[in-house]
Amino acid sequence: MTTRRNFLRNSLLSSTALLPGILKKGADQLSYGFKTTEAYKPLFVSTWNYGINANTRAWEVLQKTGSILDAVEEGVKVSEADPASRTVGIYGYPDREGIVTLDASIMKGDGDCGSVCFVRQVKHPVTLARKVMEKTPHVMLAGEGARQFAIAEGMPMEEEVLHPESRKAYEKWLKEAEYRPVINIENHDTIGMIGVDQNGTMAGTCTTSGLAYKMHGRVGDSPIIGAGLYVDNEVGAATATGMGETIIKICGSFLVVELMRQGRSPQEACEEAISRLIKKNEENIEDMQAGFIAINKEGEYGGYAVHPGFNFIIHHAGGSKNIDAKSHFNTSR
Ligand code: ASP
Repeated sequence: MTTRRNFLRNSLLSSTALLPGILKKGADQLSYGFKTTEAYKPLFVSTWNYGINANTRAWEVLQKTGSILDAVEEGVKVSEADPASRTVGIYGYPDREGIVTLDASIMKGDGDCGSVCFVRQVKHPVTLARKVMEKTPHVMLAGEGARQFAIAEGMPMEEEVLHPESRKAYEKWLKEAEYRPVINIENHDTIGMIGVDQNGTMAGTCTTSGLAYKMHGRVGDSPIIGAGLYVDNEVGAATATGMGETIIKICGSFLVVELMRQGRSPQEACEEAISRLIKKNEENIEDMQAGFIAINKEGEYGGYAVHPGFNFIIHHAGGSKNIDAKSHFNTSR
């Protein structure tokens, strides 16, 4: 019988045979070697180095409006509108039917939150998520319902034409992949941004076009509050990137925040959450990248990933810095 796990497993295009020694370190052999000593307020942290312009924008908006919520929304809108992004927004890679579907979420430190998933033709799903939070009694709208809500809110609908580079990649995938969703560590990336102002008020956003060539209807962690994003003014904030299925299984961002509540630094909390994620996904972990970033209300930060290659941007009054995250496994792919 084909189990879901085998189905996904059989879809892998990369071979684990090429990765000698990658699993040498056991999931419970983790040692916390790195404690954040720096603390900044205000502070923005976002996933991946393409977040540099997003963070700069967030900083500008915070200076101008004083609103940490406006700042994290406007920040990630830079990535959503970037025609060069293949993993965030409408210019991203499509699903296996050739359709781009988007997931996004937004959360305030007081618990208010909103999200949209499996939505089409919306240039700024993060703004739509904010409208769900502020203008409806709900937290999450999906698919056609989310699109109709966007239209009702006067948001323009984008034409559904693949970006030429996404089309080229999709056509190549159609020829080579026999219509199987590709589950590996390369075909995805999300921008998640978390920020704290000088008073310790926090907010976060997370937005993505999700896994490339996913099954139509697949939703990742990014729009799921507690998985892709969680913010609590009493403690801190966390957001995630990487294989959404692995992150959902451990309620990843909520877990990171709860670990900080128990006294872990942001760095320790990210490391422990990655350890938990590895334990729950051990069978396929060679091919699954995932990473967390976190801040606490003091303005300390941290970030950690399963595999090397993950980086994040911090932005504070002293400027921006790209940080290569440490990872559980050390073998580069
Ligand atoms: N987490 C996103 C998803 O699974 C994609 C990513 O960040 O790589 O849809």
